[in-house]
Amino acid sequence: MIEVDGKAAPAARGPAEVPWTTAMARGFRNRCPHCGEGRVFGRFLKVRDACEACGAELHHHRADDLPPYLVIFIVGHVVGLAILETEMRFEVPLAVQLAVWPALTLVMALALLQPVKGAVVGLQYALGMHGFAAIRRGRAEPAGSLAGSPVLSGERADGARDGRDDADRDTADLRRA
Ligand SMILES: [Zn+2]
Repeated sequence: MIEVDGKAAPAARGPAEVPWTTAMARGFRNRCPHCGEGRVFGRFLKVRDACEACGAELHHHRADDLPPYLVIFIVGHVVGLAILETEMRFEVPLAVQLAVWPALTLVMALALLQPVKGAVVGLQYALGMHGFAAIRRGRAEPAGSLAGSPVLSGERADGARDGRDDADRDTADLRRA
């Protein structure tokens, strides 16, 4: 069972098609990509297992190193350009530059990391990556037909989008060995 703040997550609400731009914008604003109401993060950078408002499972995300990579890309370009422009146009004492640029870099990186991670989670949700595919399949099939499906429950369990569940994979791996 998935818990949100110590309580059982509410049952996932009816499926709704969400464009990837909307899902990313919602994630950037720390809002659930599925409903846009619940929060993605329980605490700094920690994605909730499920949305507190609609129950959409968020633990499927595999943001991994992409958010910090994107943040480095963004902050590097902004601060790098600012340093170059400052050098070209003004005569700022070295001590001031040494104080300003590292501080600005740190503040920007910390401020952007969580919103960017939220946007990455939103994108993975919208593209049906990893276990998020189960939510998409939920749109295609009537709600009642999902419960008894062994493939879906296995897919839900292992979070992989390969049409097989854990048991199948284990058996296949044994045969190969
Ligand atoms: Zn939600």
